[in-house]
Amino acid sequence: MAEQETFAFQAEISQLMSLIINTFYSNKDIFLRELISNASDAIDKIRYQSLTDPSVLEAQKELFIRITPDVENKVLEIRDTGIGMTKADLVNNLGTIAKSGTKAFMEALQSGADISMIGQFGVGFYSAYLVADRVEVITKHNDDEQYIWASSAGGSFTITRDTVNEPLGRGSILRLYMKEDQTEYLEEKKIKEIVKKHSEFIGYPIQLVVEKEVEKEVEDEEAEAKAEDEDADKPKIEEIDEEEEKAKKTKTIKEKTKETEELNKTKPLWTRNPEDITTEQYAAFYKSLTNDWEDHLAVKHFSVEGQLEFRAILYVPRRAPFDLFEQKKKRNNIKLYVRRVFIMDDCEELIPEWLSFVKGIVDSEDLPLNISREMLQQNKILKVIRKNLVKKCIEMFTEIAEDKENFNKFYEAFSKNLKLGIHEDSTNRNKLAELLRFHSTKSGEEQTSLKDYITRMPEVQKNIYYITGESRAAVENSPFLEVLKKKGFEVLYMVDPIDEYCIQQLKEFDGKKLMSCTKEGLELEETEEEKKAAEEQKAAYEGLIEQIKEILGAKVEKVVISNRITSSPCVLVTGQFGWSANMERIMKAQALRDSSMSSYMASKKTLEINPNHSIVKALKTKVESDKNDKTVKDLTHLLFETALLSSGFSLEDPSGFANRIHRMIKLGLSLDDEEVVVADNDDDLPTLEEATAESKMEEVD
Ligand code: ADP
Ligand code: MG
Repeated sequence: MAEQETFAFQAEISQLMSLIINTFYSNKDIFLRELISNASDAIDKIRYQSLTDPSVLEAQKELFIRITPDVENKVLEIRDTGIGMTKADLVNNLGTIAKSGTKAFMEALQSGADISMIGQFGVGFYSAYLVADRVEVITKHNDDEQYIWASSAGGSFTITRDTVNEPLGRGSILRLYMKEDQTEYLEEKKIKEIVKKHSEFIGYPIQLVVEKEVEKEVEDEEAEAKAEDEDADKPKIEEIDEEEEKAKKTKTIKEKTKETEELNKTKPLWTRNPEDITTEQYAAFYKSLTNDWEDHLAVKHFSVEGQLEFRAILYVPRRAPFDLFEQKKKRNNIKLYVRRVFIMDDCEELIPEWLSFVKGIVDSEDLPLNISREMLQQNKILKVIRKNLVKKCIEMFTEIAEDKENFNKFYEAFSKNLKLGIHEDSTNRNKLAELLRFHSTKSGEEQTSLKDYITRMPEVQKNIYYITGESRAAVENSPFLEVLKKKGFEVLYMVDPIDEYCIQQLKEFDGKKLMSCTKEGLELEETEEEKKAAEEQKAAYEGLIEQIKEILGAKVEKVVISNRITSSPCVLVTGQFGWSANMERIMKAQALRDSSMSSYMASKKTLEINPNHSIVKALKTKVESDKNDKTVKDLTHLLFETALLSSGFSLEDPSGFANRIHRMIKLGLSLDDEEVVVADNDDDLPTLEEATAESKMEEVD
């Protein structure tokens, strides 16, 4: 007997297994789908290797999945001739390394998710414990010996060199020792039903070993015995003829034999005429492709002919996967086939990253069968296919947009992807921009498209206005909207962090400039009169502006008269090409690796003052009567700091700000405090030395 090694399951996996074993679930059927899906994945892997090195198939040339029920012993086996697992694979893949999905799946279950979602979280293997109390994985990889992995849960598993089972050549057997009450899964009828329902479109033959009663001609021994008795007395002279004579003495009996029956003989769905395919069939195919438990939201089935020929089926899921934007995750989005032969399921060249949520298959007539990953990168045919897929995806999204309810679902799940697409794909930018939806100053609870926005523009309005910020609540009452609202110009609320990136690229829509109302150079279609009034005010406020600039120093780039505020005293706007306040916030939150970038891009702020505001007017009077009035300085700083806040920036010196506010409060409460004068010049906290020196003095006192 070979030596046995025992391993502890990683804690989360162990927890997951207990959950699977101890929680009551009625739809246990899915275990078979998961194991067949793993078998199919394993065959995909060896199939792919064989494209460049046919010798990897030598140990076992036939590619199949075989289900063998053993009713007597209550054992169900699922065999595949896939890649198999080395001992190290067994340790890593089946128990010691948790995937991000392990925890995510348990959390999902706790919040009411269904067990059938297991496959999407990358832990489908453990669903075997829904029906079995002991599982063995007998496996042979080309690079290693044959091993047995075994576990009855309970926190540990064992691995043993296999010296007892038949040699597999290559591949794996999942041997399930069924729970007492789960023996229905050993029934032929039940297995056929589940495979039909969940695994019909698996690309390799799924064989079921069935018991058949066959009629068989056997020698009728009784008859023969009789004959022999009769013959006994006769002299044995006709020995040569005897055999002939005996052969005639036969009878037919019924005998049980084992046969394999193929369960998934359907023609690949994509080769069929779309008109003959029902929604249910598309849904079944989608589910087998993705392990999703829900139907798809939209599907596009098409073929391209001409200098290049391929067929494809593309799907949009109903939800985003739990790890949509997880960086390292290898995606199985679009499966690539060449003339009906599966090639690979994570072909990055087929679809751009922003479309990583689209699932489906592509079957090319033109690519060579033995194509390798390296060849794919340069491949011209693939580039053309990719271009077509992107085009068809956008067509599909536009079709979804015809049904508002569906589109809302779609947009909620995948708007980030669309925006990423706008950022990255200059060719399709305009088409994609039509799919954007935003809340706005006029949209109410619904979101508006840019097209609809344009229909509401007053005749004098030339640009499309938007404001970026942290949330709808944060921008809704922003001072930047004051004049625009007054003029009846609608403003779009862009409150998704990705909007900042998207809008950098999308500079216009339908010939209209997209204009940030928090940045410099806001065009407002002013009348001649308005312009003249502004010029006059500029001259009148020159003194105040100079004084404010001197007080604020490097904190602001410029101080100017504002055309965009009516009820606030001032706002801070940023340069047209620099970061907005919102972008600065996002970049700070991301703890930029490249700090040089942040100082370069960080918003250069311009303070805009409202000449019609009573505070600004009073400040002007104060400055004019006494340039060195102490309170002017304090008030200017306060105005600047409140403008920082109301314009969406964060305070650089919150305690200095707090000190100033406290002084104001004391004033308001008519508290006479000498500190008011002392602290006047210094907004900063005392340095560490100053602070310690102070407290030492207190001690002496
Ligand atoms: P997923 O299939 O999403 O990766 P599973 O929990 O179903 O998650 O399987 C875990 C891993 O175990 C697989 O990624 C694969 O490496 C390995 N595995 C499972 N079944 C097989 C099999 N039949 N042949 C080879 N490897 C397998
Ligand atoms: Mg799986």
